[in-house]
Amino acid sequence: MKYLGHIINGDVFSESKRTLSVFNPATAQQTADVELASQVIVDEAVIAAQNAMKSWQLTPINHRAKIMFRMKVLIEQNADKICNMLTEEHGKVIDDARGELARGIENIDFACGIAQLLKGEHNSNISTNIDSWSEFKPLGVVVGITPFNFPAMVPLWMWPIAIMCGNTFVLKPSEQAPSAPFFICELAQQAGLPAGVLNLVNGDKIASELLINDPCVKAVSFVGSTPVAKSIYQQAALNNMRCQALGGAKNHAVVMPDADIDFVANSLMGAAFGSCGERCMAISVAVVIGDECADLLVQSLKQRIDGLKVGSGFDTQNEMGPLISKVHKERVEKHIESGIEQGAKLVSDGRQLFVEGFESGYFLGGTVFDHVTSDMDIYQQEIFGPVLCVMRVKNLEAALALVNKHQYGNGTCIFTQNGSAAHYFSENVAAGMVGINVPLPVPMSCHSFGGWKQSIFGDLNAYGPDAVRFYTQRKTITSRWKIPSQDHSAQFSFPS
Ligand code: NAD
Repeated sequence: MKYLGHIINGDVFSESKRTLSVFNPATAQQTADVELASQVIVDEAVIAAQNAMKSWQLTPINHRAKIMFRMKVLIEQNADKICNMLTEEHGKVIDDARGELARGIENIDFACGIAQLLKGEHNSNISTNIDSWSEFKPLGVVVGITPFNFPAMVPLWMWPIAIMCGNTFVLKPSEQAPSAPFFICELAQQAGLPAGVLNLVNGDKIASELLINDPCVKAVSFVGSTPVAKSIYQQAALNNMRCQALGGAKNHAVVMPDADIDFVANSLMGAAFGSCGERCMAISVAVVIGDECADLLVQSLKQRIDGLKVGSGFDTQNEMGPLISKVHKERVEKHIESGIEQGAKLVSDGRQLFVEGFESGYFLGGTVFDHVTSDMDIYQQEIFGPVLCVMRVKNLEAALALVNKHQYGNGTCIFTQNGSAAHYFSENVAAGMVGINVPLPVPMSCHSFGGWKQSIFGDLNAYGPDAVRFYTQRKTITSRWKIPSQDHSAQFSFPS
């Protein structure tokens, strides 16, 4: 049985007190024990990060970049091993695990070239004989707290950029899928990161709380559910700590009557049921304009769901794996029951699924509800499972009103062949990431990622240029050298 401790100051550490079992969700078999950090471990990690700051912030940017280039090579060389860990602990199909890792590596590519964004700003002679420039300085010790659904990618949104900006980092990954982030952190030590620059503490909410209440921590990047994101943001503000906290989602796809229904149905299958719906950018609501279009779409979805291949993520024939845990599966089943009770029409029922040879796994099939209305809990709440709600509206205005009124505003998309409808939608929709005939509009690493409304707390988005600003503080220097001919008498007014 694998045992996962912590990585502090370049070494693997364990204190063997509180532990949690990690399961393979396809088999319900335990695969590892993970330690849950106590105050002692968190203190050790933060002290290690703080000590490493002294020399790391002075390490030239090109030396830091050389380590990141080695990091990229090491991850690529170990990609199969990492993806197997992702599939074993999260359950996602192996091809999707490869996609996750690729989207994580992109952030290392971006981080390698970060000198371009750290150059600062300069103005000569901004006032007579005065020069002024701004520099972007590291903050100090930065913490990252990450969710179970992207165990490799989300940490890679954070620490490569934070450390390339000259900070040191303590990562607290999800306790439900800890192996991949742990292994990647071990690779970072092999790549030549000085001890203490990247530390990892395994743990649950207790470790998160200890980290965000540590006076030596200067900033926290959080990704997870909205209630936790909100509480982390509030606590960080009380502690005068910089915070970006990305939360949950309920992403709507608006389907115009002119859309190609086969293309929409195929797109929605991947976007709603890929990764078992456990993606913050998953489409969980299809808002269809007109009954004729809705009838066609529901029929097409039903046909496809009947053929959806659900099973172990290691079988390359499968398109969807299990949910993360028994508890989460039961939660999703309760949502399905509530949808039925509140009057939505159940078109495909994932609860009937039987996966031969994997009877104990946490599987659910694709589920579609039609005639969902905005007062239903299945519409209001994030389900984070393979459940797609279809809603019927009369026109684009009504669709927009629905999307804009929802508490979440992470991603959204429109399917149409009409350019002006697409333009009107993207201009007026209240969401952070918008797709036009693109169901999962996840920005590439040179842009930044983040939603609106209850999907984010904080001002700057994850990764990309926003992350460079998040992980640095501006210092503006105004400089004058004595010139003999100039008047140096006392000045009591602002120069005009
Ligand atoms: P979660 O909020 O339960 O946990 C996230 C992290 O916070 C974990 O590391 C966990 O140990 C820690 N944690 C849990 N409870 C805590 C508490 N009370 N105080 C402090 N820390 C706590 O989320 P999850 O179930 O791991 O992930 C799924 C959620 O993450 C979904 O809501 C999903 O939408 C969201 N998510 C959002 C994004 C985004 O970019 N907006 C990306 C991925 C996932």
